[in-house]
Amino acid sequence: MTLRRRLLLAVLPLGLLLLLLGGAGGWLLLNLGRRSDAILHENYDSIRAMVQLTDAADRLERAALAGDRAGYTAARTELLDQLAVENGNITVMPDEPRLAAELTIAATEFTTAGDADPPRLADVRRLLPVVKAAATAVLRLNQDEMERANRAAQRTATRSLVGFTIGFLLAAALAVLFTYRVVAAVGRPIHELTGAVRAVRGGDLTHRIPDGRRDEFGELASAFNDMAEQLWLIKQTNYRTLVRAREAARATIDSFPSPVLVIDPEGRVELANPAARRLFGLTAPAAVWSPPDALRQPLADALRDQRAYLTDTFDQALTLRADGGERVYLPQVRPIRGDRGDTLGAAVVLDDVTQFRLLDQLKGDFVATVGHELKTPLTGLRMAVHLLLEEAVGPLAPKQVELLIDARDNAERLFALVEQLLALARLEDRREFLSLERIPVEDLFRRAADAVTVRAADKAVSVIVEDTSAVPPVAADPVRFGHALDNLLTNAVTYTPPGGTITLSASADGDRVRLTVADTGVGIPADQLPHVFEKFFRVPGDDHPPGTGLGLAIVREIVAAHDGDISCESTVGVGTTFRLALPIWKEGRA
Ligand code: ADP
Repeated sequence: MTLRRRLLLAVLPLGLLLLLLGGAGGWLLLNLGRRSDAILHENYDSIRAMVQLTDAADRLERAALAGDRAGYTAARTELLDQLAVENGNITVMPDEPRLAAELTIAATEFTTAGDADPPRLADVRRLLPVVKAAATAVLRLNQDEMERANRAAQRTATRSLVGFTIGFLLAAALAVLFTYRVVAAVGRPIHELTGAVRAVRGGDLTHRIPDGRRDEFGELASAFNDMAEQLWLIKQTNYRTLVRAREAARATIDSFPSPVLVIDPEGRVELANPAARRLFGLTAPAAVWSPPDALRQPLADALRDQRAYLTDTFDQALTLRADGGERVYLPQVRPIRGDRGDTLGAAVVLDDVTQFRLLDQLKGDFVATVGHELKTPLTGLRMAVHLLLEEAVGPLAPKQVELLIDARDNAERLFALVEQLLALARLEDRREFLSLERIPVEDLFRRAADAVTVRAADKAVSVIVEDTSAVPPVAADPVRFGHALDNLLTNAVTYTPPGGTITLSASADGDRVRLTVADTGVGIPADQLPHVFEKFFRVPGDDHPPGTGLGLAIVREIVAAHDGDISCESTVGVGTTFRLALPIWKEGRA
């Protein structure tokens, strides 16, 4: 049954009862009034008739005795009229018909005596009390009847009041009962629904409202249950997806041979692959991680400021004891950001570069050894060729001169290569100590620009040195750093076609100075760009001038030795820009 019908059914009987009660009351009142009115009216008519009849009888007797004919006739008419009224108004059963009949007989005898010619006055006098007595009897009867009717009306009124009160109490009780039932019918399901909504809000998605009602609440309950079911399904699906994603992430991380850790914002280890667990001896899954000293600050920066710490040179490598030996790692700490830019944690990846480091060292040692071994005989060779070419040991035929010039150029190139190799080996070994000085950037730029002026002019490439007078002086070794700048400028002139420009500029940035060497040359392909600072790297291609591929490697080592850094940006056909950063000169530094 629908709620509307239920409410209607609860209220309808109440309305009907009220209607019934009201109708019955109205009818009772109306009836009571009408009945007492009728009784009063009928009895009152008889009483009045009897009073007037008595009065007329008196007058008739007096007129008859006085011989007043006219008075007699008037009194007689009145008497008969009132008698007719009484006879037409017989209401009190069973006595009134008899008393009326007796009155009629007495009145008839009375008037007959009066009507006789001459009137029988003695009979008239004798019959007057008889008529009056009969009239009084009728009057008494009607009076008694009036009193009785009055009492009856009073009783009826009392009964009606009692009946009414009972009816009213019954209606009130029924009203209370119906109201209670309606409130219960509406309240219970609302209560159930509220409980269910609270349960779902509290996370209990399995909560259901008992089904089975066929009213609006039943519909509401089934809609609610459907919703809870859908929510439960969505939660299950999300949960499964989440678990899958987590498992996939864990499997991916586990498959890395390098140690990988995911740290939560509180510094606890959220995920760690077996390599990381072995390396750091992690056993408890959610333990707060105390990282190696070198990673403490980068990790704090990543978690607090979302700053990444990425390393790419062996200077930044971390040596840790693992699997009974020492291993070298290049650490990367990357912040993990949420959709809303909040910090979810940090990922720490330790690239195991032990082998590469070993190879690099071997390469360095090899280069140093070979360089040393080559340098002495090569110096002898160069001197011999020079002496021959100066014709110090005798004249040379033109063909011989040609061959010797070729031999000299090759010896010079070889010598330059050996020099470069040795310089690099020394730099890497940190055997060469820098003598840092306070140098204005202007001086560094001017010297470097002067060194390439002739070559640049030959190639019609202009070298522009921007005004750097406002930039604070840097702490640099003028010879070594000059060598690095020379290298960059030489490359710039080499790889810039005629008509191009090379621009040297600088700006202050906190406690560092940023230097820029920009050219409008051929540029370096994007896929080669990451390798330009590697040893022996040269951009592939036939049309490049001869070179060793060591220049930029040396530049980077020199810059690193200065506690600076260098990066390269380039676009093929547009130009190349090298950006360097050097610490500014601080008075009192060693
Ligand atoms: P190289 O002795 O060959 O000049 P470098 O280490 O100085 O060796 O440079 C490595 C490679 O980088 C070069 O072979 C060249 O292809 C590229 N390169 C360096 N500087 C520039 C530049 N300014 N413009 C274009 N390419 C450059």
